[in-house]
Amino acid sequence: MKKALVTGAGGFIGTHLVRKLKKEGYWVRGVDLKYPKFSISDADDFLILDLREEENCRKALSLSEGKFDEVYQLAADMGGLGFIHSAETDILHNNVLINVHMTHTAAEMGIPRYFFSSSVCVYRDMMPGEPELKEEEAIPAHPNNEYGWEKLYAERVALAYARASGMKVRIARFQNCYGPEGEWEGGREKAPAAICRKIAEAEPEGVIEVWGDGTAVRSYTYIDDMVEGIFMLMHSDLEGPVNIGSPEYVSVNELVQVVSEVAGKKVRVKHVEGPVGVHSRNFSNEKIYSIGWRAKFSLRDGISLTYPWVESQVKKKKAS
Ligand code: NAD
Repeated sequence: MKKALVTGAGGFIGTHLVRKLKKEGYWVRGVDLKYPKFSISDADDFLILDLREEENCRKALSLSEGKFDEVYQLAADMGGLGFIHSAETDILHNNVLINVHMTHTAAEMGIPRYFFSSSVCVYRDMMPGEPELKEEEAIPAHPNNEYGWEKLYAERVALAYARASGMKVRIARFQNCYGPEGEWEGGREKAPAAICRKIAEAEPEGVIEVWGDGTAVRSYTYIDDMVEGIFMLMHSDLEGPVNIGSPEYVSVNELVQVVSEVAGKKVRVKHVEGPVGVHSRNFSNEKIYSIGWRAKFSLRDGISLTYPWVESQVKKKKAS
């Protein structure tokens, strides 16, 4: 039986990845600062550890017998745009410590395969209509925020340890990911969950507030597609960073439209000042396509599965 460690297993993608690895027949240890918020982890073993400490990375990676076959490093201090812009020093401090200690310790302990969850935030700002950027075009670098700079640095740390130790490193640059069991309130939620929450809370024909003018273009990847991409990439021969994301690009206004149609609730949008991030995104998926991955969920399909979950959270909170 293969053994996998998932760090950040109390978070959104980690919870779903543990579930996937269990379905694939793995023995799984999850590690996080906290247990999953919305369900009980499927992990065989779950340790509460602060991975900013090197000694805790060693504990996470140690087994009483043998060693992990695969390590998936998803732990990060992160959130949506509001968080990314207000917590720059936390992001730089905490995530550098987690990634430097995790990569160093995994290489030192002879872990054969190591996955690092990077982000398309490593790329520069783009304008609508610009041609696709390929992975190597992240350099020369000009990320729009400190989260992107830290991810770029952590990618380089992982690649340097791969060269030095022979550890097989796989790096995914995720586009925005959404789905049930993601943060939906409190400041760390991303745009799809935030829009679902606002529409679930709004009266029919009511008004919801949206940051910026609603023209920013993004692609949103449903959680099941993302987890499948992580698993396929980890078991592939693809070296270097690999973009994973849906090819369906929409503006924030179009995202609101899709959510409102799925909810069956008409709302009016009031554009207010707030962090909007980059103007546009457009990335090549040729590398991940070369191993057979494709996004199976359209935005409408994914929102149809996410909106009812967010709505149920809103109702639960209202009733409590
Ligand atoms: P998340 O915030 O839900 O999960 C991250 C987990 O890391 C949290 O449960 C958190 O408690 C844990 N963590 C933070 N600091 C820790 C520490 N010191 N020690 C141990 N655990 C710690 O985020 P997510 O959406 O599941 O993202 C997972 C990974 O994917 C992150 O590395 C993130 O940067 C990356 N990513 C996510 C997205 C997205 O849209 N969700 C996009 C690009 C990249």
